[in-house]
Amino acid sequence: MSRKITLIPGDGIGPEVSDAARRCIDATGVKLEWEEALAGGAAIEKFGNILPEETLNSVRKNKVALKGPITTPVGTGFRSVNVAIRQALDLYACVRPAKTYAGVKSNYKNIDLLIVRENSEDLYAGIEFEEGKQETKEIISLIEKLNSKKIRPDSGISIKPISITATRRIVKFAFEYAIKMGRKKVTAVHKANIMKFTDGLFLKVAREVAQDFSGKVAFEDVIVDNMAMQLVQKPHNFDVLVLPNLYGDIISDLCAGLIGGLGIAPGANIGNDLAVFEAVHGSAPKYKDMNKVNPTAMILSGVLLLRHIGELKAAESLEKAVSEVISEGKSVTYDLKPDPKDPSAVGTSGMADAVITKLRK
Ligand code: NAD
Repeated sequence: MSRKITLIPGDGIGPEVSDAARRCIDATGVKLEWEEALAGGAAIEKFGNILPEETLNSVRKNKVALKGPITTPVGTGFRSVNVAIRQALDLYACVRPAKTYAGVKSNYKNIDLLIVRENSEDLYAGIEFEEGKQETKEIISLIEKLNSKKIRPDSGISIKPISITATRRIVKFAFEYAIKMGRKKVTAVHKANIMKFTDGLFLKVAREVAQDFSGKVAFEDVIVDNMAMQLVQKPHNFDVLVLPNLYGDIISDLCAGLIGGLGIAPGANIGNDLAVFEAVHGSAPKYKDMNKVNPTAMILSGVLLLRHIGELKAAESLEKAVSEVISEGKSVTYDLKPDPKDPSAVGTSGMADAVITKLRK
């Protein structure tokens, strides 16, 4: 019997890269049935709703989804469909592997990092107060009363909640994932020296959780600014990183930079029993319908999906096929060519075809 997976094509380049990934996953021979569900621009057109309940229900039912990037409408007050999906489905762990593949332009070699980012709170909780509004004035005067610190009256305010509950589950997730993936060390990243009650709490709870895994996986902590420098200078010193939401967002893009850019960086958003797999990159609207961009990040997100559903052999063959196509450097998109203007670059679908040919060999 085939297993159902929700497919959310997304906006901009989303439909092209998700179609490429779906074809490659199917070519591994694993029997999957794709249930298409809309979010983003296509959902507004069809349902007048950027994130229809039907789409969330499809993921709740099938437990696993492959999702293309979705454009965040500017100036509508709506934050981000991507954040809304993570929050609605409580996908609290964002996992982003950063691995170098031979043939990709990068200043680094043999990088194999795993970034685990907390997805549900921190400054991304969406608790914000706009400058000049009555409620903002009230918040400012309450804070001044309770904290005796002055806040400029023309300030906007964003709230940063970090809880014991969310920290404990993300750090536990990082350790368990490290064990599952045969990793040796977890590094907690924070700014506990400055934000004692939020990052300080994160660090304290991380240390407590680490004790439960002592002897199995090593643990250390590094302050986020120092981490940014160390990752650039000696990335090989690190293995699994666990971070609160905002630092996780920034550091995972830094790590995508280490391995050659967004075109090849996959990701997963994982909750207790639901998981949505998606590339780190966005919808790159200027490349929409051009059959031009690199499908690798989405295909590698498919590798993570296959591993998640226990199809380890298929995951391994697909990753090997992608890595061979990249290292041969022939049937690859413009961004993987030494000269991006190289006319021999293939399009999104052409690169997927090359991966499929490898799988069939
Ligand atoms: P982006 O990642 O879409 O594109 C930035 C640049 O990166 C592109 O112009 C392109 O040069 C390069 N790039 C991205 N993907 C590539 C690929 N597969 N192959 C080759 N090059 C690639 O970032 P942006 O322009 O800041 O965002 C565009 C939209 O995407 C925004 O609305 C943003 O909110 C949204 N976004 C969505 C997600 C998501 O759905 N998870 C993530 C990030 C951004």
